[in-house]
Amino acid sequence: MIVLNQKSLIPNSFLFYTDDFKLVLERAMKVGLESIIITGGSLSESEKAIQIANTNDRLYATVGCHPTRVNEFDHYSDPQAYYDNLVKAVKNGGSKVVAIGECGLDPYFPPTIFQLKDFQLFPSNNHKHQKLLKKKKNRYFEKQFDLAETTRLPMFLHNRNTGSDFVTMIKQNRHRFTSGVVHSFTGSLEEMLELVNLDLYIGINGCSLKTEENLAVAKQIPENRLMIETDCPYCDIKKTHASYKYLHMVPQPQVNLEEHSGSQGTNDTTSNTPEKGKGSKDVVFDDNDEMWLNPLSKLKNKYQPGLMVKGRNEPFTIRQVLRVLANIRNQDETQLAHIVYENTKRVFFPLSRQNPSA
Ligand SMILES: [Zn+2]
Repeated sequence: MIVLNQKSLIPNSFLFYTDDFKLVLERAMKVGLESIIITGGSLSESEKAIQIANTNDRLYATVGCHPTRVNEFDHYSDPQAYYDNLVKAVKNGGSKVVAIGECGLDPYFPPTIFQLKDFQLFPSNNHKHQKLLKKKKNRYFEKQFDLAETTRLPMFLHNRNTGSDFVTMIKQNRHRFTSGVVHSFTGSLEEMLELVNLDLYIGINGCSLKTEENLAVAKQIPENRLMIETDCPYCDIKKTHASYKYLHMVPQPQVNLEEHSGSQGTNDTTSNTPEKGKGSKDVVFDDNDEMWLNPLSKLKNKYQPGLMVKGRNEPFTIRQVLRVLANIRNQDETQLAHIVYENTKRVFFPLSRQNPSA
């Protein structure tokens, strides 16, 4: 099985405690990941992502500025210089850069922003201040459509609780970029359908599967618009999530002779149909109870090579996202993996941009 992943692997991220990068990659490739896209969340992070991508044929990078970091535009020598250097990073990265992002909208700003000079005029809950922040975020999100338009690269998009603002901005700028994924999707069914109608892809990770409402939306994503990711080091599937009960069930694809006449089914379809309920005694485990299903982890101060670090998600758990999706959508796991693989390839790795040596 081959699946692509699209999230951060940058070792200087605060959740990386130990230099076990090689082992992290080994685990990722073991579950069938062919390539990994390392997300850049700022100019310096994008440059770092490219640097890491250059160390391994299977690694790629994005270039962009996350909505919670757009203050960097203003605190650079000047915003245009920051933008010009993002363009330069894309050019220097060559075929290693496969998307613009992560960019988008998010109401959150790290508390440190309030210490910055241009915001000292206002208390953080001041209405005028909030308006100013919103304007700033919109301006620099807009700027990254320029970047996508200039570079002709697809977009890796982020949206968190912004009401209709995000979709409005996408609509206004949709003609300027070729394609893209709205990653870590946690929106409503209506929002998902609106984005799909704008010919965008929906990226699902552990955070997108936390609640029953999330699951109901994920179930409805048209398969030709579905992507999966881990958002590591964040967004792992936790025991408290609605998705967790679907992790330890063997998918039982719905038999639809018309649609799936060529389907081979999974190897484990001989298992009993699992009961879909928390704490169910009829839960059926996979034949190969592999590490991705029940990953062992140790606290950072008790780090043990070969095991995960507690609280730090890794690319290989993408297999869990696939398992949950296959279960809630009643789809064959392998078939679903191929579908998301093709979707991801279509957007981020079209033949014209592929590096012949990769
Ligand atoms: Zn995000």
